[in-house]
Amino acid sequence: MNGQDKFQTALADLRLPVEWRIAVAIRPRRRSVGIEILPGGSVAVLIPPTADPEQVARFVSSHRRWIAGKVETATRLAPDHPVKEFVDGEEFDLLGRRYQLHLVDTLPAGVEQLPAVTADHLLYARRQPAEQIRRAIIGLYRHAGLDWVRREGYQYEKDGRIGGLRYEVRDLGRRRWGVYRGAPKHLTALHWAVFGLPMHLAEYVLVHEQAHATWPDGRAHGPAWQRRMNLWMPDWQQRRTVLAEVGRHAWLGDWKPSS
Ligand SMILES: [Zn+2]
Repeated sequence: MNGQDKFQTALADLRLPVEWRIAVAIRPRRRSVGIEILPGGSVAVLIPPTADPEQVARFVSSHRRWIAGKVETATRLAPDHPVKEFVDGEEFDLLGRRYQLHLVDTLPAGVEQLPAVTADHLLYARRQPAEQIRRAIIGLYRHAGLDWVRREGYQYEKDGRIGGLRYEVRDLGRRRWGVYRGAPKHLTALHWAVFGLPMHLAEYVLVHEQAHATWPDGRAHGPAWQRRMNLWMPDWQQRRTVLAEVGRHAWLGDWKPSS
């Protein structure tokens, strides 16, 4: 039996739930046993080389309840972003409406440029290599999103006495929906993927950043900022909770070649 095996055997005797996906890792520099819950909910037991297997098993066993809670949370909140295929019929949500992709070689009647969305829920895009279709569709989200943000953001500029605010819609990575950059930029930036969310959540992301743009006193999300949020969007906390759940299923631009 090598070092790892004897620990694995001791843990197997505990008959822990299989969905915990327990892995054992020998950590030469550790002095005590540790447990780490990894993103997505698997469990790593970190073990100093000199530890006694029985003692490790007792330690894990005595933390059963703690592990169960952490695994549950990590599994529930794990990102689960869809992967799209750029083929006819693939669905895209944009500004609260659902569209079906339709690839074309020429401009359809009544369409002036590609890509375009139509009143009958079609998203027309030029047939080309997938990476280019992806870029074109994200460009559509960015344009439509920027128009929306300028239009919807204005009322808060007026009401919050925000002068000279600029807007941007771009890729903000996989962890942020929006950001406000203070002077001298004075810029509200939203992720293009926000415009694939239900509109009440896009509104929350916008209002959140607009509240920062009023330069409330104190901490970033402190009492003054919260007062502004309560005024502008009384149910903002509820929307934030829904966003944490809905957002992890949002399309962030992932794609796979068509099969
Ligand atoms: Zn914030």
